[in-house]
Amino acid sequence: MQNITEIEDLIKLISKLPGLGPKSAKRIVLKLMNNRDELIKPMANTLAQVYKNVVRCNSCGALKSNSNGCLNCENTKNYNKICVVEDIADQWSIENSNIFQGYFHILGGTISSVGQRKEDLLINSLVERVNREKIDEVILATSATVEGQTTAYYIQNSLKNLNVKITKLAQGLPVGGEIESLDDGTLFSAFKNRSNLVSNSD
Ligand SMILES: [Zn+2]
Repeated sequence: MQNITEIEDLIKLISKLPGLGPKSAKRIVLKLMNNRDELIKPMANTLAQVYKNVVRCNSCGALKSNSNGCLNCENTKNYNKICVVEDIADQWSIENSNIFQGYFHILGGTISSVGQRKEDLLINSLVERVNREKIDEVILATSATVEGQTTAYYIQNSLKNLNVKITKLAQGLPVGGEIESLDDGTLFSAFKNRSNLVSNSD
């Protein structure tokens, strides 16, 4: 595989995939080269089809096929709750756990992610969906990182003029967690969600 431009380009591309570095990329390319007809040919065709036909829904952020509508936001069950997540993988985890029945809204990242522009995060379309679908609760399920919490705060602000309940996943101090050993996100979250222990006023 020495100095063949096509192969080197392929290795570079594959090593950009999650969990793969140059070493595993080389092993994958070797496997592909040894199975040209069984792997490379169908994979190239499938990739071309996916590139051509599968796009991100610009209303809810899910993947949809051009040949039919978006199954994620054209759900006919008339839910009254919508759960806001960063990525499709987050939706899969919540769906697998069966704890939530309702619509999903996939932002496609967080506000401070590198190269992520606010406009790409589908926050305006979330506001539209909340209005259109007669939603009465928006559940913010962004991660407990500074970026995730900043994004949740921004969304909360964008929804403040709508008559809708906004809730957030509980993300407090872990039991036994020492302040100094907490990551920034947990600490940020713990501060933001701090509760009043003694109330003198009412
Ligand atoms: Zn959709």
